[in-house]
Amino acid sequence: MKQFDYLIVGSGLFGATFAYLVNRVGKKCLVIDKRPHLGGNVYCENVEGINVHKYGAHIFHTSDKQIWEFVNSIVEFNRYTNSPVANYKGMLYNLPFNMNTFYQMWGVVTPEQAFAKIEAQKQEALSAMRAEGATEPRNLEEQALMLVGKDIYEKLIKGYTEKQWGRKCTELPAFIIKRLPVRLVFDNNYFNDKYQGIPIGGYNKLIDGLLAGIETKTGTDFFADRVHWEGLAEKIVFTGKIDEFYDYRFGKLDYRTVRFEDEILDTPNYQGNAVINYTERDVPYTRVIEHKHFEMFGQEVYDVPKTIVSREYSVEWTDGLEPYYPVNDQRNGELYKRYKALADNEQNVLFGGRLAEYKYYDMAPVIASAMNLFRMQVEI
Ligand SMILES: Cc1cc2nc3c(=O)[nH]c(=O)nc-3n(C[C@H](O)[C@H](O)[C@H](O)COP(=O)(O)OP(=O)(O)OC[C@H]3O[C@@H](n4cnc5c(N)ncnc54)[C@H](O)[C@@H]3O)c2cc1C
Repeated sequence: MKQFDYLIVGSGLFGATFAYLVNRVGKKCLVIDKRPHLGGNVYCENVEGINVHKYGAHIFHTSDKQIWEFVNSIVEFNRYTNSPVANYKGMLYNLPFNMNTFYQMWGVVTPEQAFAKIEAQKQEALSAMRAEGATEPRNLEEQALMLVGKDIYEKLIKGYTEKQWGRKCTELPAFIIKRLPVRLVFDNNYFNDKYQGIPIGGYNKLIDGLLAGIETKTGTDFFADRVHWEGLAEKIVFTGKIDEFYDYRFGKLDYRTVRFEDEILDTPNYQGNAVINYTERDVPYTRVIEHKHFEMFGQEVYDVPKTIVSREYSVEWTDGLEPYYPVNDQRNGELYKRYKALADNEQNVLFGGRLAEYKYYDMAPVIASAMNLFRMQVEI
């Protein structure tokens, strides 16, 4: 009989949700994390009375009532609604593309006028492409032009996408952009989901609530003493990198990452919104996040005299940087499959979460996935 039923490697939302659920059915578990804090990528650091999203801005959104009720049973959520704004050469445009954007871009005031403008520009793009003998968009630029036309593409998509990928849109494959939703209503709410918000008091409250009463160890790397940790529990739930688990035996999986430059400013309200995208190529960062707007509204913004902003730079991942976004290309897809085949043969190790499944997961789906794993464990 081992000391713990489960050793959970990683205290992000996957590990914390799984730990919460097994703990409730009387299983003994230990959660370890190599970082000096719990929470994985949703962790926030409180600076000057403001919760700073250390690993990138996180907005919780879902249409799944069960998930919404679950997270709200741990901590209440506020009414934050994500309505990013784009700054292109000093002009501001609402996102996602909607009637406000079209008014700002062309001065059109009715959906009919906006539709006609977009359709005319799409037709122009189609004719230009056909004139060159092509029947299908040959790259991301052509794809975007066919979907929304020249003005929206050049002002709001081109520079931003090139910064994100570190390549020209004409050198990126068309399939990266499948759809570019255009809303013919005045609605700046970025997400279509039924529920969204930020935990009141910040994400650490959510993690602390999930892990209440559960033994945890931070600053503890599983690989620093693997044999010890493996001997401690009946089963391991591993939420770290799957290639690292197998000692990179087939090679390393690639990621893209983001570098953040944080600044404390001596003003209560710097940009008037949590998220501003900088869509021109010549501004080196992609977004500026002003963290206080996630949790402070109205007068609350002015009750805190300072503000914290983070500029986001999209960069190629190398060892030592945080692995953020999996790269969905053939090489990485095939490499992951080889690791997954090994993982499927494990008897006592369960893999879950964004790093172990080499998959981009939003928060709500990662919680749903941990719930599924739990259900499968209970049924066994
Ligand atoms: C920049 C960015 C912005 C995002 N914004 C949003 C958003 O707005 N809305 C949304 O819904 N989702 C967002 N997400 C997704 C969200 O971050 C993920 O859904 C969530 O973090 C996944 O949780 P996880 O537990 O799988 O991984 P993680 O949170 O990464 O947790 C994994 C944990 O495992 C630990 N670990 C790894 N290896 C070891 C080891 N060897 N030993 C011990 N511990 C180890 C790590 O330190 C980490 O704490 C965003 C993601 C990124 C990258």
